[in-house]
Amino acid sequence: MDQVHPKRQNGTVEIKTTGPDSEQLTEEQWQAIINNDSDYNNQFFYAVKSTGIFCKPSCKSRVPRKENVLIFFTAQHAISAHFRPCKRCRPTGQRLPDQEWVSAITEYIDKHYDKKLTLSILAEACHGSPYHLHRTFKKITGITPVAYIQQTRMDRARLYLANARDPVTDIALFVGIPNISYFITLFKKETGLTPTEYRQLERSKTTRRCLFDGSRE
Ligand SMILES: [Zn+2]
Repeated sequence: MDQVHPKRQNGTVEIKTTGPDSEQLTEEQWQAIINNDSDYNNQFFYAVKSTGIFCKPSCKSRVPRKENVLIFFTAQHAISAHFRPCKRCRPTGQRLPDQEWVSAITEYIDKHYDKKLTLSILAEACHGSPYHLHRTFKKITGITPVAYIQQTRMDRARLYLANARDPVTDIALFVGIPNISYFITLFKKETGLTPTEYRQLERSKTTRRCLFDGSRE
């Protein structure tokens, strides 16, 4: 259970910018932060004033501006200074329950399906090994993460084809599949139709619905 309740005033986290608990950032610590050096993980934590969040040195989140960094030797000190533990690197040591982790993974896919997305990219972004991510995802959702990525892309492609006028090559790009022939093959495997056939079918359905009663399903 998360028992941390940072004090909020008018929606902003009240943060001590200096205090007896935070330490001066050394060049060695700064290098550890820049290089996500896990060797330093039990030696210190760094908090970022602009975000109100604190991390382990190994955290792969975006490198903060140096002047915003505060150093703490214990997680408890960072919490006392009203910083929240980062959800990615879990500096307080709690592991995400599988369910929560899988929601974070699906959320990541839903936001990044239009970019290059492989199992290892996903594992890197969501902080787990590719093997563990694949297994956990499948256990919770019943499908593999790669299948979920493809399903998301095909769902979006169907939506675009039915509602947008962009050429099929552009739609393939919008859903993160720059290789057009691969896109067509995948789409046909999924729907039994080529993207162009699918688009024509959807258009004729819409026309028919409009002719009947002017309403949409
Ligand atoms: Zn972090």
